[in-house]
Amino acid sequence: MTDIKVFITTSEASCGECGEDLGRRAWITLVEDKGALCLSCADLDHLVFLPSGDAALTRRSRKHSTLAAVVLKWSPARKRYERQGLLVEAEALERAEQECLADSEARARRRERDAVRRAELDRQYVKQFAERVRQLYPRCPLGREVAVAEHACFKYSGRVGRSAAAKNLDEQAIQLAIIAHVRHTETPYDALLASDYDRGDARAQVEGAVARVLAQWQAPE
Ligand SMILES: [Zn+2]
Repeated sequence: MTDIKVFITTSEASCGECGEDLGRRAWITLVEDKGALCLSCADLDHLVFLPSGDAALTRRSRKHSTLAAVVLKWSPARKRYERQGLLVEAEALERAEQECLADSEARARRRERDAVRRAELDRQYVKQFAERVRQLYPRCPLGREVAVAEHACFKYSGRVGRSAAAKNLDEQAIQLAIIAHVRHTETPYDALLASDYDRGDARAQVEGAVARVLAQWQAPE
């Protein structure tokens, strides 16, 4: 890979070969003996400029380009040459753009597949969780087991890995989920919180009611 350097001049420049006055901010290469050369004389004027910024596009363009040049500009503030981008063959840039596009499409498709998979895992999790609730609380009103499971699923989603959440189907997790559900739906707990009750006090206040409801739901039919 040829690593030609092209400089953007800061002062007046003229081409050492064709003699053309290039003015300021000309794009030149430096050649031994001749000094500055215009891109036309350096046979680089067929290349297209790709500004820095897109790492993948740059890497791929460079890979596909037989001839490439790094474009550098002097930074007076930093006192060093700074990379502005790359000169590459038009076909190389086009090919690189197509690859990047294909990549982003592949990524989009992957995201879609992941979303479907997550939804499926959620569905399975809710189903299993609901079944366990129904087993442990056979007399809980119809549909409540799904409400509890969906809430638990929502609570765990994003926070812990789905596999970890799935393992959480133990009795204690079910217990906590159903206590929270009963507290909110079968007792004045939310109303207490709304009227500025301390959480601990509110929980203590409804503890008995929660236990009574759970005992009813737990009783074998
Ligand atoms: Zn020239």
